[in-house]
Amino acid sequence: MLAAQRRHFIVGLDDGERIACVLKGRGTTLACGDRVEVVRVAGGGAIERVLPRTNLVYRSDAFKEKLIAANVTLLIGVIAPDLPVDLELVDRWTVAAEAEGCRFLLVANKADLPGFDALLARLAAWRRLGYDVLTLSAKRDVAPLRAAASGEHSVLVGQSGMGKSTILNALAAGAAARTADISSALASGRHTTTSTTLHPLDADPRHGWIVDSPGMTEFALAHLAPDAIPPAFVEVRRYLGHCRFRDCQHRQEPGCAVREAVARGDIAPHRLALMHTLISDSEAVRDPARR
Ligand code: GDP
Ligand code: ZN
Repeated sequence: MLAAQRRHFIVGLDDGERIACVLKGRGTTLACGDRVEVVRVAGGGAIERVLPRTNLVYRSDAFKEKLIAANVTLLIGVIAPDLPVDLELVDRWTVAAEAEGCRFLLVANKADLPGFDALLARLAAWRRLGYDVLTLSAKRDVAPLRAAASGEHSVLVGQSGMGKSTILNALAAGAAARTADISSALASGRHTTTSTTLHPLDADPRHGWIVDSPGMTEFALAHLAPDAIPPAFVEVRRYLGHCRFRDCQHRQEPGCAVREAVARGDIAPHRLALMHTLISDSEAVRDPARR
């Protein structure tokens, strides 16, 4: 499924044809990247079935959840030196990727600008965690990212102004024009924009695709269950199950293997603090008293 607008969808068929579809049955969720079975009906198609998915990537806050894409293999986060970078956002991306079982790639864009080396130096911590950092100058050449995204099902995230549109238009030629086409096809002339659109990297969507999610100003993870959060921190994961208490919250308990790792310098204190923030956020939206 390539794009959605309320209950109307654009589906790319295996032979490359694109058809406008309606979804049969209420209560079915559908995201870009979902594989579906379609039957032809007058004027287009009807989606009969959503095939099992490997994952579903969301963004959320305390009030709402929003689907970004299904069957994602790679989360690509973009940052650049000419705007204030929210590095906590980078940590949140790593957590989202780990929780959904996809890889994370950090793209440091605008390598041609002054201040780039200073930005790169600040990214050493993520390299140490095992994440790839790709240096890019999207305006000049996206070939390094094209290679990394080839065959992958990617979601592109980043603060506004970091270069996502530039990247998307270079990777998926004509992406902007296609988004406009799809919007008008789906909205049947009405002036609306689609929130997320899937862009095949070449003529065959099976060779990989990329989904952008515009307007991503925050990256809340309240949809993750509290239990899912500690294992989504790669450096914490290896200590889980090694604390003295089975139900250790890794706060003040004696014999906490996670806190011992922080004391040794193996876990960064701000990453542990973020873990506790995310757990609290997750518990808050699940607390019936606060609904
Ligand atoms: P978006 O808001 O993340 O979609 O960012 P855009 O793609 O609109 O880019 C924001 C600005 O950064 C635009 O003026 C781009 O031309 C510029 N830009 C994007 N990539 C690069 C780059 O590699 N180098 C430089 N110098 N500017 C870039
Ligand atoms: Zn502990």
